[in-house]
Parts: sequence; structure tokens; C-alpha cells
Amino acid sequence: MKVFKFGGASIKNGKAIKNMAAIVKQFASEPLLIVVSAMGKTTNALEQLIDKAQKNLDYKSSLDEIKSYHTEIIQQLEIVDQSFLEKIETQFKGIEIAATHAGDYDQVYDQVVSQGEILSSMIVSAFLNKSGLPCEWLDARNYIHTNETYREGKVDWVKTKQSIETLNKTLNQKIIITQGFIGGTSNHTTTTLGREGSDYSAAIFATCLPAKSVTIWKDVPGVMSADPKRISNAIVFEELPYQEASEMTYYGASVIHPKTIKPLANANIPLLVKNFDDPSLPGTIIHDCKVDNLPPLIVFKENQCLISCKVTDFSFTNEQQLSSIFAALSETNTRINVMQNSAISFSFCVDFRDSKILKLVSMLSEEFEVYYNTGLTLITVKNYDAKTFIEYRSKPNVILEQSSRSTLQVLVRS
Ligand code: ASP
Ligand code: MG
Repeated sequence: MKVFKFGGASIKNGKAIKNMAAIVKQFASEPLLIVVSAMGKTTNALEQLIDKAQKNLDYKSSLDEIKSYHTEIIQQLEIVDQSFLEKIETQFKGIEIAATHAGDYDQVYDQVVSQGEILSSMIVSAFLNKSGLPCEWLDARNYIHTNETYREGKVDWVKTKQSIETLNKTLNQKIIITQGFIGGTSNHTTTTLGREGSDYSAAIFATCLPAKSVTIWKDVPGVMSADPKRISNAIVFEELPYQEASEMTYYGASVIHPKTIKPLANANIPLLVKNFDDPSLPGTIIHDCKVDNLPPLIVFKENQCLISCKVTDFSFTNEQQLSSIFAALSETNTRINVMQNSAISFSFCVDFRDSKILKLVSMLSEEFEVYYNTGLTLITVKNYDAKTFIEYRSKPNVILEQSSRSTLQVLVRS
């Protein structure tokens, strides 16, 4: 059996969903479990709705937009079954109730954003059934079990495996359609696995079944050496070792969610990245292999913030000070993307997230003079060669650079 994952762009309107169904038809001769994300930019729209509803602002227009977007897709797909339409209507009512619920923000967030995936999986499943592809809708919250860390649910692998293993029987009869990105707690509340986490869901299902392979259907021809929108001569990799792909995601390549590779590599399950506009293209296979002479791989990570902590008493940065910096990072759950120290200061670059950074800066200010710069881009050149090494170091507005034998990183003002 195989696992397929279709992201938001691949199911963003009626035409895209029909194309998705055609792909499924082509591969339906063997058991399939399909993971879908929310349609198009629904997750962002739901985030805005939550924000307004929780601040007691007028959220009605946001809700109406989400409603009419999905309703239009249902019409484009000509799904007219009355009981289905009623179920969708109930779903929208549930979204409104959940978004206006007074409670912990992150918990409310998960109960609401998860509805994007619930809606998309309901619509896709109804359409596949209508198109002669018998499938069963499955609530991923009963199969992917997590703790109660809302927005970043941690998977209970033992329990999750026990639940998912039971699906093999159904898979021999029908296609299963389920949601990416979401899980459930033992108290039957919904959690999410982190933004863009649907790839990770696909890897979880694949590992627990276990599947022969996972295919992620994307709007690019495969994993590329750089974003083709930025670098026109970027190439598509035919194959990549797990390690290489995993490191790419660490540096910010957005083609695959960072948590996806590890479980697949441990279970030796290949991950294919294929193009949904042209399924005949070979795409990229990420598996246990060795590839010599990989070309330079360039990753741009935007919206970075450089924080510098300066000691104020004419002493030098010492281990105790470093340890209090790391304690603050750990407490605010902040990951360092690059770091550097000098005699009297320690600087590090992190993803810029408003509230988190302000909290971190205020904690650090108790002990240090803290400066920070926002609006930066971190460029990583993995497997650099002489040409790219010179090219990226001499970019204008470099404010920090670092290189090892294989990797060059420069932080630039955007
Ligand atoms: N819909 C979720 C998001 O946009 C999960 C995903 O797309 O993978 O973050
Ligand atoms: Mg998405």
C-alpha cells in the first residue's frame, strides 16, 4: 500500500480537485491512504478569523469568505447530496462557536484551524465517491494521538501505531481519505502538529502501516537545488539521500516539512516528490542512497531576526552567561538558525515571531544589553563550490557570515 499527500495548492479549486481525482484513478489499482491539507490558503484565513473572534472584533466577513470559498468549490464539483450539504453547514456553525469560545488561545486555535482539513477531506471524499472511486473518510484525530501541546502536538508513537495498524483491513477494500496536520488528545480535544505539518502526518501514517512509499504531490517538478522563482537555473534532483533532504529542510527549504524525513528514514520508506500538473515527470525520490558531487543547494530563509547580547561590565562572555542565554531560548521554545560569539557579545539568528521575540528579548535584557535587527534573510549554500562561495559572500548588506567545509551561511538585510 502507498500513502499520498495532497497539499493546499493541489486542491485549491474544483479544477484542481478533478485533476487530483485523475491522479488517484491512475494509481488506485493498489491500496491507498490519502492525506489532504486544507484547501488553498484556508489555514491562513482561519488564523485571521480566530484572531478577530478572540479579540472581539467583527469576524463575520472572514467567516463568510471561508464559507463561500468552500461552497463555490462544492458547486464546481457538482456535489448536490443533501445530507452532505447539511453536514458542511453544521461544520461552519461549529467553526463559529469554536472561534468565539473563551479559553486558552492555542487550544482554541487548534479546534478552529483543524476545521480546514476536516472540510477539505469531507469534500474530496464526497467527490471521489461520486467519481466512482470508493473511499472512506477517516478522522485522523482518532488515529494520530498526541499530548496536549496545542499548535505543536507531540505524537505518542506507541498508541498511534496501535490505532493506525488496524487500518490495513479497510485499505484492502477502499481508499482512505484523511486529514494532514491534525491529531487528538486522550481528552478528545484536537491538536495540530505545527504549520505545514501535513507532510509529517503522511509520514506518520506510512510508518505505522507500514507503507511501501509516500508520495507528496506538489506544484514543482520535484526537489530542486534552489527556489526556481529566485534562481532560474535551479535543477531537479533525481534522487537524494535521506540525510541530505533532512538537512535541506533544517536550513529552511520549504518543499518538505522538517519532521517528515526522520520517521521515514528510520523505517526505510522512500519519499517521492512529484508534480501534480504532470504526473508523468519522474520527480525526486528520497531514499537510502549515495549521490556523489551534489551541486550547490541554495536555501533562502526570510523573516529572520538577529539578536545580540552584550555583556555590560567589561568582562568577557563566559559559560555561565551563555548558559542563561540558552535557558531563555529553551524556555521560549526558540530555535537558533545560526550563532556567533565575540569577546563581549553573543549573537544569534532566529525566526522572527513577534510575541515570542519580545518575551525573549525582555528575559535577556535582565542580564545583557540586547540589540536586535529584523527583516533579515538567511541564505544557506550547502555543498558550495568556488563560484557560489564568492558570489554569496559578496552579496550586498551581509551582516553576518559563517562557513564550514560544506556549508556557507550569510545573513543579509532584505
Ligand atoms: N493546512 C496546514 C497549513 O497550511 C497544514 C499543511 O498545509 O500542511 O499549515
Ligand atoms: Mg497548507
